[in-house]
Amino acid sequence: MNETIEQDSEPPIREALSSIEVVLETSLPVKPFRNTEITKSDFKVIGPQARRFRENIFPEATDKQWNSWRWQIQNSFTNFKKLSEIIDIRTIENLDFLSKSRKLPLRITPYYASLLYGKSIDYPLSKSVVPTTRELVISPGEESDPLHEDAMCPVENLVHRYPDRVLMLSTGFCSVYCRYCTRSHMVLKDKKHFGIKAWETSISYIQNNPDIRDVVISGGDPLTMPDKHIEFLLSSLRAIPHVEIIRIGTKVPMVLPQRITKKLVKMLKKYHPLYMSVHCTHPDEITPEVTEACARISDGGIVMGSQSVLLKGVNDSVETMKTLMHKLLKLRIRPYYIYQCDPIPGSSHFRTPVTKSLEIIQGLRGFTSGYAIPHYVIDAPGGGGKIPLLPEYYQGREGDYVMLKNYEGKTYKYYDPEK
Ligand code: SF4
Repeated sequence: MNETIEQDSEPPIREALSSIEVVLETSLPVKPFRNTEITKSDFKVIGPQARRFRENIFPEATDKQWNSWRWQIQNSFTNFKKLSEIIDIRTIENLDFLSKSRKLPLRITPYYASLLYGKSIDYPLSKSVVPTTRELVISPGEESDPLHEDAMCPVENLVHRYPDRVLMLSTGFCSVYCRYCTRSHMVLKDKKHFGIKAWETSISYIQNNPDIRDVVISGGDPLTMPDKHIEFLLSSLRAIPHVEIIRIGTKVPMVLPQRITKKLVKMLKKYHPLYMSVHCTHPDEITPEVTEACARISDGGIVMGSQSVLLKGVNDSVETMKTLMHKLLKLRIRPYYIYQCDPIPGSSHFRTPVTKSLEIIQGLRGFTSGYAIPHYVIDAPGGGGKIPLLPEYYQGREGDYVMLKNYEGKTYKYYDPEK
């Protein structure tokens, strides 16, 4: 381990509190933004929604502050009191009970909050990040670690489910907490970065297992860590000869695009082949800021794929998904996965029937370019891994022919003799 790298002190303020305190802190004074730390940033794009929001909610913030990702994190909305400045939370029933419950913390960056500003609580992006009392309803089949990742960790925070790849849970912190997060148990229990010391055992496990050729760095969100820590991790992994590719799983380009500085990309591109799985929820996330962030990542030669969770009332229609996939392709993000919403506690209000997902895939296939069609997968509860589901295009066999149904529902015979 490189001892010259300091232990992480970011995020430095509220995250010292436990997650329960963070949820309860409805009466804490809001830290004056003028005193918070900012990073020198080469990010310059401020779209019209963010500009209007900043003028109204942070009138004293400068462009420099707004474009600093640390400023964004330090001025995030982490309690209902502050959130009530931007949306009408009186419409959330039983708010008092909710604010006292031990649930997934609330955190929304000012940038992402600007997308919710002036919208109703039923606006799709609001639903995905603003808590509701429906999270308190625990339904059959729900559990805190539905994929049983804990049981598949040979060492702490390293999931080894498939033979040739591992998932490294590098941090417990995210810049925005999605209300349907599969790893809610993890971000709930440790709302801060683990620091580089905590990675030692994972790195040595990977070093000692030559079958591992692919490492996914996830969390929490790894891009919320300082550059020097990300670089430490990437350089440690790149030094292992059998690690062929490294993937970063992140929602940062969509919720904190200011984080994608030229300096960050210059560092990342030293560690090719590097891939990025970008968590995207809805077409309204694609703004001028996100367009700039994704252009930087792509220009750095980093191949991006999308990951979206199908969410009731948020993105569960063919039209919404088609628009999202088209917009992603324009950003050079290849649509990769649509996930069925995992059964974490209090998530049933987000879950769609499996037939809905198949209907969406069917509504895409043939009606748009193949590049715009992601795989629909269910991550099998209990640790079975990702299982892809497809509409019934294969209709069976008639003698030497297989019967196939096309995207319009018409049946065709394909000559395919059995012998
Ligand atoms: S960004 Fe990912 S890890 Fe973080 S809360 Fe959202 S889904 Fe969970």
